[in-house]
Amino acid sequence: MLNKTMQKLGEERSVIREIFEYGNRRAAEIGRENVFDFSLGNPSVPSPACVREEIDRLLATMPAEVLHGYTSAAGAPDVRDAVANYIKTSFGVPMTADLVYMTCGAAASLTITLNALCEEGDEFIVLTPYFPEYRVFIEAAGGVCREVKTDARFHIDLAAVEGAINEHTKGILVNSPNNPTGVVYDEEELKALGELLEEKSKERPIFLIADEPYRELTYGKQVPYPMNVYQNTVLCYSFSKSLSLAGERIGYIAVSPSCVGAKEIFAAVCGAGRSLGFVCAPALFQRVCAKCLGKSSDIGEYRKNRDLLHGALQKDGFECVEPDGAFYLFVKSPEPDAKAFAERAKKYELLLVPSDSFGVPGYVRVSYCVARSTIEHSLPAFEQLAKEYFG
Ligand code: PLP
Repeated sequence: MLNKTMQKLGEERSVIREIFEYGNRRAAEIGRENVFDFSLGNPSVPSPACVREEIDRLLATMPAEVLHGYTSAAGAPDVRDAVANYIKTSFGVPMTADLVYMTCGAAASLTITLNALCEEGDEFIVLTPYFPEYRVFIEAAGGVCREVKTDARFHIDLAAVEGAINEHTKGILVNSPNNPTGVVYDEEELKALGELLEEKSKERPIFLIADEPYRELTYGKQVPYPMNVYQNTVLCYSFSKSLSLAGERIGYIAVSPSCVGAKEIFAAVCGAGRSLGFVCAPALFQRVCAKCLGKSSDIGEYRKNRDLLHGALQKDGFECVEPDGAFYLFVKSPEPDAKAFAERAKKYELLLVPSDSFGVPGYVRVSYCVARSTIEHSLPAFEQLAKEYFG
């Protein structure tokens, strides 16, 4: 009668969304200011000025029927040109517009890329902990999601990746800066990964799918450009976080010109975009983003949030690596069951996401892309929670 897999996906909702909805119900009961919702990764810092300026300029100067009309399926030609030029000048990659596909955010970039690459029986490696939707996207594309652990600092465990590669491996998803750990992979570890993939690509190519919605959100650490460390790279970019445009659904896919069969891969990207109904990404925001490439919302604000929360949680006795990027703290649960810990936190109106759905037990994710006042007011609650465990 209907697709049971889809029904199940729709009914079971993501853990993050579940907690967010709980927060809304709780806010209606006790007031928004008394709920400390650290569940969602919704940017809290306004978009940079270039976004508003370009929206105003376009509305004032472009005929509405052009501005709001369909663009080409892969995106407006001048926008694709601008993205290609940006990649060329910023990262030294000889990118061309015919390898750039405008999409509806990173989610669409990933689903299109996975559908473009996946053949029956293919496996895609994800590094734990990982963004939970990876499994959903991989399985919906017909692939197998193969979880591989990271090391104790959540960096790439090369031996573990090597051990997981087999004749079915089609790709590896890499997300840096990372959600949920805030880790930024450095040049050496990415190079080592590139060399391993190169070595294992002799029979058939293994693709590096670089998921980069947080590229600009770093606190000083360089984020190496994946196309410069490995040839078979497909970059899935989004403006959701960098420009605080999560609700506008805009991003792009860029296929590395050095990919084996880059043109054919791009054709498959166009085909997957077509079959999934992701043609012609939002037209106004394609053009806005073309004028804001490489810009970001004020990272200083996220840094202040990070420092305030990380400092306070450490003082309370919680264990947590200081994030180098993105806007999440990955905090060790003081009891083995992170779900039980998150439940206990609710007593203090603290809404934290247990790590189980990220593919590892025993942690909670705390999204610090919230108003500064939310963090300030939450600190006594964290202190009380800590006292339950550490006295
Ligand atoms: N990938 C990662 C690692 C994310 O954290 C997110 C959103 O939180 C996405 C992809 C999806 O991003 P978008 O909203 O651009 O679809």
